[in-house]
Amino acid sequence: MNKAESERLSSLFSQKGMQPTIHPDEADLVILNTCVVRQHAEERVVNKLHSLRTFKKANPQMLLAVTGCWVDANPAQMSKSFPYVDYFFKPGEAPPWQNIEDWRRAIPEKPGVTAYVPIIQGCNNFCAYCIVPYRRGREKSRPLAEIVSEVQALVERGTREVTLLGQNVNSYGQDLPDKPDLAQLLTALQATEGLWRIRFLTNHPKDMSLHLIETVANLPKVCPAFNIPIQAGSDTVLQNMRRGYRADDYRRLVAEIRAKIKGVALSNDIIVGFPDETAAQFQETVDLLRELKLDAVHVAAYSPRSGTIAAREMPDDISAAEKKRRLHIIEQLQEEIGGQINATLQDNIVEVLVEGREGEKWYGRTRTDKIVFFRDTADWHGKLVSIRIERTSPWSLQGTCEIA
Ligand code: SAH
Ligand code: SF4
Repeated sequence: MNKAESERLSSLFSQKGMQPTIHPDEADLVILNTCVVRQHAEERVVNKLHSLRTFKKANPQMLLAVTGCWVDANPAQMSKSFPYVDYFFKPGEAPPWQNIEDWRRAIPEKPGVTAYVPIIQGCNNFCAYCIVPYRRGREKSRPLAEIVSEVQALVERGTREVTLLGQNVNSYGQDLPDKPDLAQLLTALQATEGLWRIRFLTNHPKDMSLHLIETVANLPKVCPAFNIPIQAGSDTVLQNMRRGYRADDYRRLVAEIRAKIKGVALSNDIIVGFPDETAAQFQETVDLLRELKLDAVHVAAYSPRSGTIAAREMPDDISAAEKKRRLHIIEQLQEEIGGQINATLQDNIVEVLVEGREGEKWYGRTRTDKIVFFRDTADWHGKLVSIRIERTSPWSLQGTCEIA
């Protein structure tokens, strides 16, 4: 989401005739887009601000603005604590000096082959550990027609794949007057000529309806790959996290998706070391992952976030060393599972949308969101290519062009 919002900011300024620079000492305006989902990210924000302060001292003309989830409900108070910051504005909002219509229309002149399109902001769920609803507010969906025309404009400028974004993307539309849903939006986008692939993230298990699954199964442009975070495998921990489902609900959901969408790839987020998580409860997460064999897992050590229910009510009682140990167990397990899944692709031919080059190699993704590298002298940028897989690892695939 931050990446999408930074891109929107940078296209807005490009349209005003400004040029990007990576050197703060050359900049007239620096915008720091922040994340505070974990403590470590917040520490990086504060460190970065300290270094930007030095540039600001050397060049008082430089404007410094801060956005993203570090900006809380009280920007006036933040201005008092950080007087050298000229502007604070909330994540997803227009800079305060900016005309709102220009902001809504800002899309890159030269977007990438793949582009992010935010469709819903905020979250209504208040999971016990999570700071997002406090910083991004309640769910607010963009009108369907506005999204469709933005995707159309991106495609006219060369984008071939869009990823629809939201903290809770599958509850899209519930707050709009005519209550469109994600299935309806995907169906509308399927008709966009020149658009080849559609993805969406992140999904909440409780909002993953059968209708949505069936719609995805019937729309050829929507990629068979879902990120649906479970966060923990123990019902007690899930209840403490206030996730609103049990591990068995998730098992049923995975079975339903796999039955309806052949070859679907699934990824997951896990938090280890949530307050009170016993060794046996952690083992339930490990067992669940071993049982379900998902394509990818993003694992994080629990980090108390001030203001959240967990930070207020539950002592952070799992040591850093134990969290690290649990994190490694999940990482190792997933390396093994991911390695096995990817190995089944050996000698298969997969369709790759080529996004760019890294050194000597082209890279892109399969419809199932697996990254593929290949060498070829032709210009494949932005094209679909058939690749025969010759080597696999838990994280990526390597192959050669299969010319028909
Ligand atoms: N809406 C998504 C998650 C958004 S936050 C969902 O419902 O799952 C992205 C990821 O950051 C989460 O999946 C979670 O694994 C991680 N995360 C959020 N808060 C965290 C915290 N306090 N400590 C550790 N990880 C956290
Ligand atoms: Fe945070 Fe996701 Fe829970 Fe919303 S659903 S509170 S974004 S973890």
